[in-house]
Amino acid sequence: MSDRMNRRDFVAATAAAGLALGVGRTTLATENGAEAKPAVLGGKPAHTRQFSSWPLTDQREERAMLEVLRSGQWFRGSGHTVERFEKEYAKLTGAQHCLATSSGTAALLTVLASLDIGPGDEVIVPPYTFVATVNAVLLRYALPIFVDSDLETFQIDAGKIEAAITDRTALIMPVHLGGSPADLDTILAVAGKHKLPVVEDACQAHLAEWRGRKVGTLGTAGCFSFQVSKNLSSGEGGAIITADESLITKCSAFHNNSRPIGHSAFSYVGGCGANLRMTEFQGALLSVQMTRLVEQANARQQNAAYLTSMLKEVPGISPAKMYEGCTRNAYHLYMFRYDAKEFAGLSREKFIAALEAERIVASSGYTRLNREVSIKNALQSRGFKKIYSQAELDRWEERTRCPANDRLCDEAVWLTQNMFLGPRSDMDQIADAIRKIKANAAALAKA
Ligand SMILES: *Cc1c(COP(=O)(O)O)cnc(C)c1O
Repeated sequence: MSDRMNRRDFVAATAAAGLALGVGRTTLATENGAEAKPAVLGGKPAHTRQFSSWPLTDQREERAMLEVLRSGQWFRGSGHTVERFEKEYAKLTGAQHCLATSSGTAALLTVLASLDIGPGDEVIVPPYTFVATVNAVLLRYALPIFVDSDLETFQIDAGKIEAAITDRTALIMPVHLGGSPADLDTILAVAGKHKLPVVEDACQAHLAEWRGRKVGTLGTAGCFSFQVSKNLSSGEGGAIITADESLITKCSAFHNNSRPIGHSAFSYVGGCGANLRMTEFQGALLSVQMTRLVEQANARQQNAAYLTSMLKEVPGISPAKMYEGCTRNAYHLYMFRYDAKEFAGLSREKFIAALEAERIVASSGYTRLNREVSIKNALQSRGFKKIYSQAELDRWEERTRCPANDRLCDEAVWLTQNMFLGPRSDMDQIADAIRKIKANAAALAKA
């Protein structure tokens, strides 16, 4: 059985293929053409298979888990799987050093702490990201400064970073959102000019490349997540990569309660710390999962490129563009903008519901983080108020307006990485569904 499918998928896929054969290819084509009836109005769903489940495993994961279980060496201090994974991941990314952590958030927090980012510092972040990027900044009592998004790429608008830099700026933290690299040429040039470190939040960007180099190796450090939705997963987990030996030593101490790795005794180094270690179970799982990563990345890239070639011809659908320096997109998310005006005023919510009826589950993506109440609450907490004056916090509100991002949050539609692991015909059916919805948009808008 193919590694890309577990047994349940295999059964589902063959059952769907059997049905499709019974119907016949010509019937299918007309039934799913633009003239066909949308599923939400009682027509046949355009998508006939099931997308790949996620995560995918086989006996090798089972064996690896059992081995750790039976060894009793569940802690990285006594076993070897985490250390082995760190070596493998460093090799895969071309990084000098790798430190595994308990999560991507833990990786970000560890790097920020080790770079001594703290109260009174400003950190430049994109508003279009998972909240963990910002939480890592807030946990250090630093001020997140949102720089607006580039509508075309969904990434931080790197051309606007310099204007946001003040004498308090301590770090630039771009995110390679969806697995597509942010404009690293511009970011690294601005950072170099102002002598600022760059931490790449590559939590969605395993194997993504900028001008032939893996993301995470271009900045001061790169952080990855192995949470279950991510392209490489152990349920929870994270990693830091860097070429800076003194930084990785500090990170190692911070994530290990101020102790050097390999010394479980009571001798302490560095400053404060926490326990943000990866378990041996996660390390063992990741080493096996990693054997499929390249093949899966290739499948995602080929399918996504093919889908883009079809969707860019549909007025009202604008797939996220990549920067010229992007030599590999990890496609954790397939993101596009939806223009309701080109779909007879059919709202994005109704468009997504119509897609779901076609058996294509899509999401409307992130909300406006720069206006997120939980972040405002954090800024109004006792700790923040001790550090920042009310005038400063009011100014923050002014400084972090992001009109392009507001629009992005209203127009975005996402598909997830697992939908790109199957056959090319899945892409044809996604495009069919969208064309069908467009052809019937006026009726759907009234329904
Ligand atoms: C997933 C993610 C994180 C956090 O990773 P966890 O492993 O869930 O803690 C941080 N940043 C981005 C952009 C992410 O997608």
